[in-house]
Amino acid sequence: MKNFGIEVETGVSGAELAGDQITGTWLPTPRVIRAGSAWPIAVGLLNMARFGANYAELALKFTKKYGPLTVPCCPGSPFRFSIQEWKTGVGQLQQTWDRISTANRKALPINLVGYSGEYFSVTGEQITLRTRRLDTFATFEIARVPAPLLRVCANVRRLETMQRSDFCRTPNFIASDKREKYCSEQCAQAAQRRVKLEWWNENRRGKQNGTQKAR
Ligand SMILES: [Zn+2]
Repeated sequence: MKNFGIEVETGVSGAELAGDQITGTWLPTPRVIRAGSAWPIAVGLLNMARFGANYAELALKFTKKYGPLTVPCCPGSPFRFSIQEWKTGVGQLQQTWDRISTANRKALPINLVGYSGEYFSVTGEQITLRTRRLDTFATFEIARVPAPLLRVCANVRRLETMQRSDFCRTPNFIASDKREKYCSEQCAQAAQRRVKLEWWNENRRGKQNGTQKAR
């Protein structure tokens, strides 16, 4: 992937919430974001949306920072999209993440659909794909990571009924080694504590009642 780059044209001003829609204006001169940063937009977006209670607020915050997720960049023009559209776009990205991370890419190619307006720019030996849609960019950000390194932290809260507060808040992560199960040392320790506690509850608590002398 050394000679292949991915970029997106984006950038907005005056983004605001209008009912169940977000409106604003594309910058006259687009900002260009290049894939390959240590903090991909896709990772931040999926983690932020996973715990979203107020999608309108999240969508607005994201749009102010990066631009509309599902609308092609059109410099200088106004834009408008619905919160539902944004939510659907995020859902599709999470599906892409799950699909790519669990697929064996050597056995079965995964075709990623682009949108109109993408183009390749070639400079010497460097080829760059430039898109005008952030969701397309985020899809490629995910696809360029080797599948075994696309992870969901094992310390994720899987059931709504689970009450503990030390579950992972940033479950989507890119591992640096395919043996990594947790996004951070804190998550590894929290999971270890929970396993110990569950084991204790199942195996020891009952037996200990009245049978063991106080130390
Ligand atoms: Zn974690």
